[in-house]
Amino acid sequence: MIVFNVPPYTGRELHYISEAVEAQKICGDGAFTKRCNEWIEQRTDTKKCLLTTSCTHATELAALLAQVGPGDEVIMPSFTFVSTADAFVLRGAVPVFVDIRPDTMNLDETLIEAAVTERTKAIVPVHYAGVACEMDTIMDIARRHHLLVIEDAAQAIMSTYKGKALGTIGDFGAFSFHETKNYSMGEGGALLIQDEKYVEEAEILREKGTNRSKFFRGQIDKYTWVNYGSSYLPSDMNAAYLWAQLEMADEINAHRLALWEQYYEQLMPLKERGLLELPVIPEGCVHNAHMFYIKAKDLEERTRLLAFLKENDILSVFHYIPLHTAPAGERFGRFHGEDRFTTRESERLCRLPMFYRLTAEEVSYITGKVKEFYHL
Ligand SMILES: *Cc1c(COP(=O)(O)O)cnc(C)c1O
Repeated sequence: MIVFNVPPYTGRELHYISEAVEAQKICGDGAFTKRCNEWIEQRTDTKKCLLTTSCTHATELAALLAQVGPGDEVIMPSFTFVSTADAFVLRGAVPVFVDIRPDTMNLDETLIEAAVTERTKAIVPVHYAGVACEMDTIMDIARRHHLLVIEDAAQAIMSTYKGKALGTIGDFGAFSFHETKNYSMGEGGALLIQDEKYVEEAEILREKGTNRSKFFRGQIDKYTWVNYGSSYLPSDMNAAYLWAQLEMADEINAHRLALWEQYYEQLMPLKERGLLELPVIPEGCVHNAHMFYIKAKDLEERTRLLAFLKENDILSVFHYIPLHTAPAGERFGRFHGEDRFTTRESERLCRLPMFYRLTAEEVSYITGKVKEFYHL
């Protein structure tokens, strides 16, 4: 059986977790959390990185920092995970869904401006599969309309757009370290902040509305309650698990990219015959092989393909049910313009197994079965 995902594991995780335990510092912001924050700051060239308990929470922090409130509108794709919308709905805002581009499955940048109203507060591009949205256009629209840009870079750590790390182009970026992502800590994430002016407030919001971060740095001699806030910092044990992965980030990335290239080459004959579609990586984008997906002709063909793969011990999956068609999406959000591609393309998409421990032999077996399905 080839499962769909195996959480990344490098072999050093338990060593670092016991180090955290022996240091008797397993609460948040211990040595491993600091190491992870600094590594991300250096690798992505970001002003400030704060490890969080999830990407959902990092996005919630961004929504708080952006002062998104009741009635505000936030432009985002409908083809995304629920967290993208949840973080803003929780603040009383309205997600305004815009159609995607069929090539990258990302927000169609040419449709954003028409969705802007006087209530629009932010644009939330989602870098699907770790492939960048058209950020120059998005940033230009945002600057002209005085909107904030919050990148849902949950899938995009180690990816770049024109040389810049995804998650660092907008005002805020959010990474995920869920076990389904390229690097993991079980549950976890990070908030990336570009402007110094948000850093102190972010630290306070993340630490229950207290200035405890300042206290730990010795900048004040006691800490107190200074603002509203919540608890968004992960245990240092989780950060220790993540550190074992960040330490080997380049190896993990290279291995995933090799598997991705192998899928792409072996399935190319099917694409050339017009039997299926393969992912598109626009010029200027470097991706991180977060996932490998193919697109079947339609929903019916995809259903048969998934069943065929399952019969052959390969677990592949589809996603997302477009948010605007889900009960909460109908209740809290609205779709601006026409849904030309969101529903249609999401019904064709099929994700093949992709994880660090996957082998070249397994990929060959999978591509062989996909070819068999298409009688090639
Ligand atoms: C995984 C994911 C999230 C949520 O990440 P968590 O760390 O589980 O909160 C949000 N957005 C997208 C696009 C994702 O893929």
